[in-house]
Amino acid sequence: MIRGEAVLRASALPLSVTHDAVIYDLDGTLVRLAVDWETVTSDVATVLRDRNVDPENRDLWEMLTLSSETGHRDAVEAAITDHERTGAYESERLALADGLPHSVPVGVCSLNAEEACRAALAVHDLDSHVGPVVGRDTVESPKPDPEGLLMIAEEIGVDPGAVVFVGDSESDATAAQRAGMAFEWASEFDQVRYRA
Ligand SMILES: [Mg+2]
Repeated sequence: MIRGEAVLRASALPLSVTHDAVIYDLDGTLVRLAVDWETVTSDVATVLRDRNVDPENRDLWEMLTLSSETGHRDAVEAAITDHERTGAYESERLALADGLPHSVPVGVCSLNAEEACRAALAVHDLDSHVGPVVGRDTVESPKPDPEGLLMIAEEIGVDPGAVVFVGDSESDATAAQRAGMAFEWASEFDQVRYRA
């Protein structure tokens, strides 16, 4: 072995993974869905008003909760998913998507419909690099409830404490904390060490 090669190899070594699995949020983290959330919010308010439920000043996710309480969850889910499905096919690929695949298992835990998550991953050829995918409709209680994150850890077969969750919202950070997982902001995640 020539000297230069040894130096080169040594310098490529120090990166080691610090977690046994990485879970990513979807929207704003791996891709950006082409969804105008104001339009979705106004559409959902209309769906509720048409069913004699006053949405008042609730935001989108509060209206989703209200729809469950009033028996209109399916109609509201359908209205949101419609936008997300289209938004998935026209989604923008973000920088972290280029860092896949990883040398450790990868999951996705999103507040978007599972169907939209899978469509977005497929559009960008990321589906084969990602294991479990949990959307808001995959679980009883979506983020910031830790249920989805814990479900993924169990499916992969790792301890939640050995997982890092990468996201872009306070709700993501809260979910990770509740799941007993490490949290990293998408904008700051040191992804290089996990690349396969
Ligand atoms: Mg997000």
